[in-house]
Amino acid sequence: MYKIGNQIGQETVHNPASVHPVTSPLTGQVIGEVSYADPAMIDRAVAKAREAQRQWAQLTYKKRSEVLFAMRQQLQAHEDELAQIITQENGKSLAESRAAVAKAIELCEFAVSIPALIAGKTEIVSTGIEVKEMTFPVGVLACITPFNFPLMVPMWTIPNALVCGNAVILKPSEATPVTAMKIAELFAQAGLPDGLLSVVNGEKEVVEALCDHPGIDALTFVGSTPVAKLVYKRATSNLKRCLAMGGAKNHILVTDEVNPEIVAKEITSAAYGMSGQRCMAASVVLAIGHCGAVIDQIIAISKQMVAGRDCPPLISRKAVEKIGQYLDQTPGTVVVDGRRAMVEGDPNGYYIGPSVILYDTIDAMPEEEVFGPTLEIIQVATLEEAIAYQNRSPYGNGASIFTDTGLYAQEASLGLSSGMLGINIGVPVPRDPFSFGGLKGSKFGYGDITGYGSLPLLTTTRKVTTKWNPKDKKDWLS
Ligand code: NAD
Repeated sequence: MYKIGNQIGQETVHNPASVHPVTSPLTGQVIGEVSYADPAMIDRAVAKAREAQRQWAQLTYKKRSEVLFAMRQQLQAHEDELAQIITQENGKSLAESRAAVAKAIELCEFAVSIPALIAGKTEIVSTGIEVKEMTFPVGVLACITPFNFPLMVPMWTIPNALVCGNAVILKPSEATPVTAMKIAELFAQAGLPDGLLSVVNGEKEVVEALCDHPGIDALTFVGSTPVAKLVYKRATSNLKRCLAMGGAKNHILVTDEVNPEIVAKEITSAAYGMSGQRCMAASVVLAIGHCGAVIDQIIAISKQMVAGRDCPPLISRKAVEKIGQYLDQTPGTVVVDGRRAMVEGDPNGYYIGPSVILYDTIDAMPEEEVFGPTLEIIQVATLEEAIAYQNRSPYGNGASIFTDTGLYAQEASLGLSSGMLGINIGVPVPRDPFSFGGLKGSKFGYGDITGYGSLPLLTTTRKVTTKWNPKDKKDWLS
């Protein structure tokens, strides 16, 4: 049984007045408890962060990045343990959890390259006058994260923020506090000075306290769109920097000349991997032209899938019930029903199988994000119609086209209103150094959450103008 407290710098502090169970989606069993931070603990975490950050900011980028080299080694050395924890508290397969550790390692590798990217600029702007631009850290950042990637999403922000000279206060999802504690422990073992990383647990109240706290300079948020909007508005109304990543409903366009077997396999894997609990999961198929064979293949593959074996559990019983209600109320035709899927796993785990819903028109399809193993399919006559449908979505995280025609791929890249586009790939996540970030209701604020696009949020610039006086010139031989 895990007993998770709050990590105020490198001190673990429990709060007996606010203790909550942590359950495993695999079994529905309680695997531990987490105590939430009270306002005094948040104040202490912020005070420690401010103090530590002042010293940290004095070091060079190169010196700070040494901790990330060491963290990379910690992640490698603890791969098995981390993967077990993620699978236990989040429910995803061990292979997915290992992939998350590999991704966290990659994120550290990008962070150690920041010194090369961040070097300031100098320019002679007039005779004897030069301007030098230097980068400085923002200060103390709060990082608020969702349940679906308990290791990767915190690691989107923490390594880059630290190398840029900031301190971080992590507020993980209440469903996955164990991984967050392990992250803090590994950073301490990697030699990160005390105070630069704290973990405060909790829900709405803790997030609001972080948005309002005068000692916090900037926030990154990743989660659902309604909460992203609330956090973005609250943080920016307090004149803090904020980048808030929201939910998604990602469209896959398919033209009718593709190979049905190959493409149906790609699409179902993009839809049902991690049981659709990815913000880049394929959600809606816009089948252009005579795509009957692709649709038949998608249905056939979906019917063969077994919850548990092919689809891991959802995060909670409530999430399973929500998808059940969505399927009950949809005006579309449910041709594969995940509620009746066979389950291989614990009967008390939070399982549901893949579902496929067919719609006659886009107007019939609800706009909301489903966040489960569900594919919604609509047939359209032209590429223009498909692009117009996607453009109407309030979300703009990912969108892809499967086609054998280069011109269609080009038109889709120009017309689709998503931040991350794919051509013949179902989950178009850009790898570092390219940045992760959507558009429309999938992201509020400027910049991106990873890669070089994250650096403007994490740094400030100062411009130094110097005048070299002509009278300083001497004739050394006279
Ligand atoms: P969520 O919005 O419920 O929670 C995210 C964080 O916000 C958690 O730390 C939670 O404690 C906190 N929170 C919840 N309600 C709050 C409130 N009313 N006020 C303040 N804080 C609150 O999201 P989730 O269920 O943990 O994660 C799934 C969602 O995250 C999906 O919508 C998914 O698409 C999205 N997501 C987006 C991205 C992206 O990059 N765009 C990446 C991963 C997940």
